[in-house]
Amino acid sequence: MTQRVVVVGGGISGLAAAHRLRTLRPELDVVLLEQRDRPGGKLATGTLAGGRVERGAESFLVGGPSAALRLAEEVGLGAEVVHPTTARAAVALDGGLRDLPAGTLMGIPLQGGETADEPAAVPLLGPGEDVSVGALVRPRRGDAVVDRYVEPLLGGVYAGRADRLSVRMALPALAAAAEHSHTLTDALREAVAGSRRAPGAPVFGAIEGGMSRFVGAVAATLPDVRCGVTVRELHRRGGGWRLTLGSTRDAEALDADGVVLAVPGRPAERLLGGLAGVEPVELEYASVALVALALPKEQAKLPELSGFLVPATEGLAVKAVTFFDQKWAHLRRPGVTVLRASVGRHGDEEQLQRTDAGLVEVVRAEVARLIGVDALPEELDRGVFRWGGALPQYQPHHQDRVRTLRAGLAAHPAIAVAGAAYDGVGIPACVTSGRAAAEAVLAQLGG
Ligand SMILES: Cc1cc2nc3c(=O)[nH]c(=O)nc-3n(C[C@H](O)[C@H](O)[C@H](O)COP(=O)(O)OP(=O)(O)OC[C@H]3O[C@@H](n4cnc5c(N)ncnc54)[C@H](O)[C@@H]3O)c2cc1C
Repeated sequence: MTQRVVVVGGGISGLAAAHRLRTLRPELDVVLLEQRDRPGGKLATGTLAGGRVERGAESFLVGGPSAALRLAEEVGLGAEVVHPTTARAAVALDGGLRDLPAGTLMGIPLQGGETADEPAAVPLLGPGEDVSVGALVRPRRGDAVVDRYVEPLLGGVYAGRADRLSVRMALPALAAAAEHSHTLTDALREAVAGSRRAPGAPVFGAIEGGMSRFVGAVAATLPDVRCGVTVRELHRRGGGWRLTLGSTRDAEALDADGVVLAVPGRPAERLLGGLAGVEPVELEYASVALVALALPKEQAKLPELSGFLVPATEGLAVKAVTFFDQKWAHLRRPGVTVLRASVGRHGDEEQLQRTDAGLVEVVRAEVARLIGVDALPEELDRGVFRWGGALPQYQPHHQDRVRTLRAGLAAHPAIAVAGAAYDGVGIPACVTSGRAAAEAVLAQLGG
């Protein structure tokens, strides 16, 4: 009989898992279940003033071996990957925009700083030890470096705080080097030297046509994608699994030989909670809102930058701003320019209590002040995209907790977890995670 694997969650991790399952075992019955009315999760392209705008993720890392790039190639979009222009990014400091310093790793200067980086008697991190990024960097580069550069750069990815984020998750190469380095300078040098990117090669890529095109291309390779289906329960049944779908009143059962769970931390906690010997990973999440404004190009007078980051120490609501058509040549069009600001940091969700109109107002005022104009021209169109509980906050020793979860799951038949909750927030990490989960389930199914 044909074996069935159900993938729960139609974000990029679940899509990558389902695609891998079908690629490796074309005869497998692969069912992808997604609770929303569309697959993609945090990848979603919308429209603004008649053009495209990303409502969530905008691009992915292509430097080094990028699983996202590979997936794009596998679904026929390799030639549709576009790269950003050479426009620079800035950082807002003391009320104005300044250049981001060159020669850093996530804002950490490769050498120097206001604090001495004296060689320690033992390596900076013990084997497997984990600390926050702030705990590693503050004593060796000073608070100003962390608050003004490292934190806003980390914030751009995680909406998180340097003093809470795990260095193993946020800067894995640096953490590995710190296991045998006695100064941060040595660890940074090694981490940077180890990055396998060819000089001058592009670091980021986006898909011509938008992230939803990417999602659609992966989904099109799958035999059975069901949207609007919430998985409420997961139980062992015989040598496999029974999933309960839909509302309590209209509950439906779906049996499977294997399961890939590619949902965020909280739904995963609920679904795994009843399984013997399994300790779900408890994760905090940050919420963010993105405010996109389409402005008349001539009047907008935006600086020639790809965008800028705003450290929390500036005391503003806006955390980062992207000038879309300056960053991406393929998005340029006559008469219209689009900026997208992000609001919301972990632990400071108050800013998100504003109404949509309130968010637009604060973004307009803060951006105008930072770029040095009296006011932005009236927008041609606007969009407010809210992502509640969207970005996982990996605390130190997150990887240990994930290992414990996976060890618990190994005692059950053909089940694996995947996604940003476990293996990293970036799209390539999610794709790698989904593929690995697919391979783990296939190995357990045998054949
Ligand atoms: C605003 C924003 C901007 C970002 N920008 C970038 C970027 O530019 N580059 C980058 O690399 N990364 C970016 N990220 C991060 C990246 O987009 C995410 O980490 C990644 O997309 C997560 O993918 P995922 O599949 O693990 O989870 P998700 O995208 O969250 O997908 C999980 C899916 O599971 C579904 N689900 C949940 N519970 C159930 C259930 N019980 N039954 C059925 N389905 C369920 C959800 O509806 C969701 O669709 C951004 C994130 C955000 C929020």
